[in-house]
Amino acid sequence: MNPTLLFWVPALLRMASLFVAAGVVWWMGGLVAGLVAALLGMIVVLVSQLRYLQQLGHWLDDPQSGKLPDGWGAWTDVFARLYRLRREDERHQSELAEWLARFRQAMSLLPEGVAIMDDVLFLEWCNPAAERHLGLTLERDKGLRVTNLVRHPDFIDYIILGRYEQPLTLSFRGRKIECRIIPFENRRQILVTHDATDTERIEAMRRDFIANASHELRTPLTVIVGFLEIAMSDPCMDAATRQAHLKLMTEQGGRMQRLIEDMLTLSRLESDEFPLRRERVDIAGLVESVAAEARALSGGRHEIAVSVDGPDVMGSVEELRSAFANLASNAVRYSPEGGRIDLSWKRGEDDLQFSVKDSGIGIDPQHISRLTERFYRVDKSRSRETQGTGLGLAIVKHVLLRHGGRVKICSKPGEGSTFTASLPNTSLPG
Ligand code: ADP
Repeated sequence: MNPTLLFWVPALLRMASLFVAAGVVWWMGGLVAGLVAALLGMIVVLVSQLRYLQQLGHWLDDPQSGKLPDGWGAWTDVFARLYRLRREDERHQSELAEWLARFRQAMSLLPEGVAIMDDVLFLEWCNPAAERHLGLTLERDKGLRVTNLVRHPDFIDYIILGRYEQPLTLSFRGRKIECRIIPFENRRQILVTHDATDTERIEAMRRDFIANASHELRTPLTVIVGFLEIAMSDPCMDAATRQAHLKLMTEQGGRMQRLIEDMLTLSRLESDEFPLRRERVDIAGLVESVAAEARALSGGRHEIAVSVDGPDVMGSVEELRSAFANLASNAVRYSPEGGRIDLSWKRGEDDLQFSVKDSGIGIDPQHISRLTERFYRVDKSRSRETQGTGLGLAIVKHVLLRHGGRVKICSKPGEGSTFTASLPNTSLPG
């Protein structure tokens, strides 16, 4: 039925029955009795309405305090509707609380920092990543001005200038933090932060690598092009000079070839497309063949000794050969004539070790931590003279990383060096 009718029909019926009762009293006891009866009836109705109104008032003061009264007449419907509204409100609140908890959890897992600020940059909320990036603590800093919390001149300028279309990269507490401000709702702003330290480092490494590789390739190419131009401009060049030029060009060509081969090896070692092939490595055979190569390179200028006292391992024969050969060839190239070189394979305390000990020129301690960087050389001219590409130790490092191992370097200038390739002790019997 129509709700208006539902309200008015019972109310009118109740009023009508009140007036009928008063009329009956009037007919039986006269006008005064009738009026008194009508008045009493109206007072009873009024008091009961006021009581319900008072109960409703109490309930509205504190809706959680208790149950709504059952009511009477139209009040039954009012209370029933209020009760339904309360149930719905409770359901919405619990949904909202659940949603908020999920939102907080998602925000706390986000690698990007998010901070919400009001129109005058007072911090309202931030996630743990923003706390880490900007050194904030939500509990302590809530309600404080962000420019007082992130005291960096570039950040303050960024806010003052308000050119938010471009992100700002801050050097902050030893890290590179990218910040971006997004205004929303007219009166609020979101500050999004991203830790770009690793990306910047990788980008800088990539730039350095390209610059170094181009430089390394340019030198031999310039030599080759120079000799070719001379040959073209002087067709009557004597045979001895031509021969000498061809020899130098071949040397420079070989240098470029070695460089490109090393670069390709490095990129294969770093690529996910070439997973490590594990096979049984015959260590005694491998160390002997590395020693034979080193003897050939030395041409009898050094004494090269071998000792193998440890088990075989699982790994890539090719990669380990390349790593061990690089260490052995470095020992030959950086040891003066008459020096001694010891190649050994043995068990360490908790690893297996291939060591190359030389009595060569040694290395100043300040260089040691950087030796495995690509193209890092202590003495550039000596490296080139001895046909070094500057990538040997970077290759060794990557091969060992792929095998779960690492390189250890001990050296003293003028006394010699020991390079140790340490591999995890996953030894095989026999
Ligand atoms: P390179 O091709 O220049 O030898 P590496 O990556 O193999 O490149 O080595 C990097 C640098 O480390 C070398 O340029 C050299 O200065 C130094 N180095 C490597 N091995 C030795 C060694 N056994 N004795 C002295 N210095 C060494």
